[in-house]
Amino acid sequence: MKHSFHLSAIFCCPFLCLTLIGPATGQVTSPHMLCGTRDGKVEWLKKYQQNPEAYPKSSDTLFLPLTIHVVGTNGGGGYFSLSNVLRSVCTLNEDYIESGIQFYIAGAIDSIANSTYNNHNFQTGSEMMSLYHVPNTVNCYIPNSPGDGLCGYSDYNLGITIAKGCLGPGDHTFAHEMGHYLSLPHPFWGWEGFDHDYSEPAPVQINDAIVERVDGQYCNIAGDGFCDTPPDYLNYRWPCDGQSNSTLIQTDPTGATFQSDGTLIMSYSYDNCSSRFSEQQSAAMRANILTEKAEFLNNDTQLYPLSTEPLTVYSPEEGSLQEEYKNVTFTWGAIPHADIYMLEVSPLASLNPVQFRYIQADTTVFSNVLLKNKNYYWRVSAYNNWNTCLVTSEIFTFKTGSLTAAHDIASLTGMSIRPNPVSAGQNISLNLTISEPFEGAVEILRPSGQKVFSENWQLAAG
Ligand SMILES: [Zn+2]
Repeated sequence: MKHSFHLSAIFCCPFLCLTLIGPATGQVTSPHMLCGTRDGKVEWLKKYQQNPEAYPKSSDTLFLPLTIHVVGTNGGGGYFSLSNVLRSVCTLNEDYIESGIQFYIAGAIDSIANSTYNNHNFQTGSEMMSLYHVPNTVNCYIPNSPGDGLCGYSDYNLGITIAKGCLGPGDHTFAHEMGHYLSLPHPFWGWEGFDHDYSEPAPVQINDAIVERVDGQYCNIAGDGFCDTPPDYLNYRWPCDGQSNSTLIQTDPTGATFQSDGTLIMSYSYDNCSSRFSEQQSAAMRANILTEKAEFLNNDTQLYPLSTEPLTVYSPEEGSLQEEYKNVTFTWGAIPHADIYMLEVSPLASLNPVQFRYIQADTTVFSNVLLKNKNYYWRVSAYNNWNTCLVTSEIFTFKTGSLTAAHDIASLTGMSIRPNPVSAGQNISLNLTISEPFEGAVEILRPSGQKVFSENWQLAAG
């Protein structure tokens, strides 16, 4: 029987720190899901708002370490994917640029396989957050559900938890819960759970809380206590108009009418309305970090900016035919300060869904899982623990052929090629171990698929 087999001049077995295979699942966000934070106005903020000038200030960007805990089922399924974690931290950092606060992922991402914690209530959530707490970092838990109808909540002492369904592109729940953790209340503070007929003027007071007024009277003690966040009485998720204001007109205790400011991330406006913190909110969060969370700033993680140079890819060459479809090697150039690379491969030009995703520190991936006679599209992204907004290559393409890999030939029981990789002009030594005689066509290919050697051999056993 005549066999044909091919040897690639680079055989690579990279260490994969994590391989995700299968289509990426889309996240569905309900705009009606609420925040379950129950801290109210924390004692630290009450004191701060009595005399903000007495608190430390800094013009430096403040870097806060995050410990990310992804929560899944007992069987280890259902985790929020690493690429989604990175995208969410990227959005979080965009939301905090104006506040001069930046977050980075400290240490490895923690996976918690526990179905009870994956769909938890306040009691089991509190148990989880106590059990897995890493001191002096912001502990962020990402389960399937942190409680019925809840997008997430903050516990001022333990960290924050956010439903993975509320971390989709364009969601600001992460920034909202982080705001609570850094001491901010809702701008509608005092109205949580209060039933009001919005066609009527607001009462002067709700329980012990003075109701905020349009003219600014009592603004430092009413509502959230910040005078640059206007009155807001809306304690349910609400849509905004073209100016990001509430469509509902409210009336303050004096009879003055107003619309709520939906640009504030701490409000309950839909995520497409919100984008910012006010100056006083930002100042309070920074003072909170510099006092309550000063130890967080001493984390010894080294932070380096990632090069913004485009990624260079080497193989498969653009548009090439990879004849041996179970032996395809992807290689690209390292970029300075990248910790991890992510290779995504798909039969669709849009790369959506991704069929194979490889996440690793190395710059080479050997694949034996592609199908024959198919067009494939691929790209590589790089990131480090600070730059989680992925630096991504353009999309490349190649085609697979139909040839079988040498190691699939039953009578070929061993094979090695040395040196490997091989430089131009260097001799190579090929050793084959054959269990029974056969005739074969030997071809040696570059990683690009280009043929550099081709010969028919009669091979004896041994
Ligand atoms: Zn909230």
